[in-house]
Amino acid sequence: MNPTMPLKVYNSLTRQKEVFQPINPPYVGMYVCGPTVSGESHLGHARPFITFDVVYRYLKFLGFKVRYVRNITDAGHFEEEGRDAEDKISKKAVLEKLEPMELVQKYTNLYHWAMSRFNNLPPSIEPTATGHIVEQIEMIKKIIADGYAYEANGSVYFDVEKYNTDFSKKGQPYGILSGRVLEDQIESTRELDNQDEKRNKSDFALWKNAPAEHIMRWQSPWGEGFPGWHIECSAMSTKYLGEEFDIHGGGMDLQFPHHECEIAQSTVCNHKMPARYWLHNNMITINGKKMGKSYNNQIKLTEMFTGTHPMLAQAYSPQTIRFFILQSHYRGTLDFSNEALQASEKALKRLWDAYEWVIAQQFADNSTAKDASLDANVVKLVGEFTEFMNDDLNTAKVLANMFELVSIINSIKDKHIQADALSSATVQLLQTQLKQFVEEVFGLKNERESDDGKLNGVLQLLIDIRKEAKSKKDFLTSDKIRNELAALGVQLKDEKDGGMSYSIS
Ligand SMILES: [Zn+2]
Repeated sequence: MNPTMPLKVYNSLTRQKEVFQPINPPYVGMYVCGPTVSGESHLGHARPFITFDVVYRYLKFLGFKVRYVRNITDAGHFEEEGRDAEDKISKKAVLEKLEPMELVQKYTNLYHWAMSRFNNLPPSIEPTATGHIVEQIEMIKKIIADGYAYEANGSVYFDVEKYNTDFSKKGQPYGILSGRVLEDQIESTRELDNQDEKRNKSDFALWKNAPAEHIMRWQSPWGEGFPGWHIECSAMSTKYLGEEFDIHGGGMDLQFPHHECEIAQSTVCNHKMPARYWLHNNMITINGKKMGKSYNNQIKLTEMFTGTHPMLAQAYSPQTIRFFILQSHYRGTLDFSNEALQASEKALKRLWDAYEWVIAQQFADNSTAKDASLDANVVKLVGEFTEFMNDDLNTAKVLANMFELVSIINSIKDKHIQADALSSATVQLLQTQLKQFVEEVFGLKNERESDDGKLNGVLQLLIDIRKEAKSKKDFLTSDKIRNELAALGVQLKDEKDGGMSYSIS
């Protein structure tokens, strides 16, 4: 183990692992693209938010003072500019007969609820697009003034070709992040509506003129309309993190066009590349297939937690999903299947059992390890936690080490290994490092201690009292417990083995 090995992260911009050097240590500014709250989050959304929660936690663990900004996209935007491009939020609001902001609130609440079930820490600032219309308009005005955007019929478009021509000379062509060259981008662009307004097919909207039926609209120098999607992240990251900040994160699917557009907009306005390190997590596939509306395999988080989706064999708890995501490196693909999730559920339980036992254990003082090689192995496995995290945040390798330690812990617990095999110092190191990495860095939360876990305990207690009452022929008490629970929606069921179980409706 080399304790001085610094943190390295894979920078999508340079396509290599780089030593992480913040602009202004110990301060770190991190911007992560947040959700579009026009619908419920699904399994695919869980990965970036859990991945960057661990990045946030680890940076704090290393002693950095992190400002973590994650936006909420609550103004209508075009997910892709095309025939079927709709302002997702206002269209759905009409369909569900809700005020747009009522819909935004509903899905924001659901999103926050899911994030807290995952035990994700709230970001330092969570700005909304609708709360920053002024900043977005100011930025667009600046881009027009510099000659990199133009107005057409009340909409404003970014002039990608002009940007590419000018900034290629400065070593920053359009496509620098995704590696796409402009010619390819134009060729792959479909015939889209409003194309006649644009000078070139690759130009993207900074501001859109709102048609009469469009509910979400704001006054601007170009008439009533609403901002394009990309400009909000440029405006909010600049406002809260400055013209140049340390980390910009998001899913790989955002590299192009979203992050490419952000780079172009911010560079024109601030004359510098907005972020130093661009981190992207890979996608989740489902049974080997890409997740998407067209495949009908987008499983909502509420469906994951309750098991109410035809593809699910059972409910999966938020912590099982968190653990499943941490079991692979964030840049690798991750394939969902019931078998994989069930294996994660079992493994997580095994980890908690060993963890709880070893943390609670008071070992006798022992200055010298009776088994020096085992002692050295434990020190090595624990020491590698930091080493693996410093190597581009390899949570998968840390967990592999934790499971080697689980085997050793279980052998001590079962007395196959004597407790004095390890020195007190090593035991203490094991206890503190496990606690820090399991709870602080990985953010795993013991669900047995959660409200669900407590409810389970209370119900078990009532079942025991009822059993006791029945055995004393106190049917008044036993019936009362059964009937009152039934009134609360809890059904008691006799099991074949003489025990009792319950179900909640
Ligand atoms: Zn963004």
